[in-house]
Amino acid sequence: MMRLPACDDASGLDACFVGIPMDIGASNRSGTRFGPRQIRAESSMLRPYNMATGAAPFDHMQVGDIGDVPINTFDLKDTVARIATFYRDLLQHDVVPLTMGGDHTLTYSILQAIAEKHGPVALIHIDAHADINDEMFGEKIAHGTPFRRAFEEGLLNNEKVYQIGLRGTGYAADDFDWSRRQGWTVVQAEECWGQSLKPLINRIRKEIGDTPTYITYDIDSLDPAFAPGTGTVEIGGLTTWQALELIRGCAGLNVVGGDLVEVSPPYDPSGNTALIGANLLYEMLCILPKCQRAKG
Ligand code: MN
Ligand code: MN
Repeated sequence: MMRLPACDDASGLDACFVGIPMDIGASNRSGTRFGPRQIRAESSMLRPYNMATGAAPFDHMQVGDIGDVPINTFDLKDTVARIATFYRDLLQHDVVPLTMGGDHTLTYSILQAIAEKHGPVALIHIDAHADINDEMFGEKIAHGTPFRRAFEEGLLNNEKVYQIGLRGTGYAADDFDWSRRQGWTVVQAEECWGQSLKPLINRIRKEIGDTPTYITYDIDSLDPAFAPGTGTVEIGGLTTWQALELIRGCAGLNVVGGDLVEVSPPYDPSGNTALIGANLLYEMLCILPKCQRAKG
């Protein structure tokens, strides 16, 4: 990733990239198992300095790529257990993991390990979908259920959960109200159209304060004009510059982990979806607490 050293483990690292090449939690198009390798390929031209924010992540942090989580591609339940175990081991080190998926099921397992270390976290969840189904086609574990499971297990600070970019067609008219009933903040895509999202993220940052925060970025939050290479496409999404505003606006938060999920290379013939994913992961690196910035 980003031509960084490949590392066997996270010892000595301030931040690390991890791949989770899975798509067996996906309900529609598959292909996200190829996400990590394509994001790595498209990251090869990323340069060290962030010209917008002045961030110089590699001047201030030790960063490496520790490879992929050894999942069991024939068994989703075993896979989520393996991911949680992997992150528990990883978080023995004082490292911030940035994960490339993979379908969104994986965030549930990461949050289990993150909450064990940091307590219930604030969550910034950018996605076309709420991913709060109780079950999908009878299954409790799937890429549409991770935040319902995380809620049930007390992994989230419910006053500080933000879901941004939700839209599309639902199973019921009140689909997003379950989130609101838990005290979460839902910002539907229509509320984002045609405007800067800096005021929104500035408000969120103030509300979260110094609570440990996890960022989960589903690439399908973007409009398919930008990012068509994903499994569950919804029209009317965010722009790439709104995505940059949201992630850059997280600078100053106590970010303890992040992920970028749902890049599906078989539906991404130009590579641009994976390219955007690589860039957004770079931007996450640039807002980590240990990364100093020359500008705001
Ligand atoms: Mn999702
Ligand atoms: Mn989604």
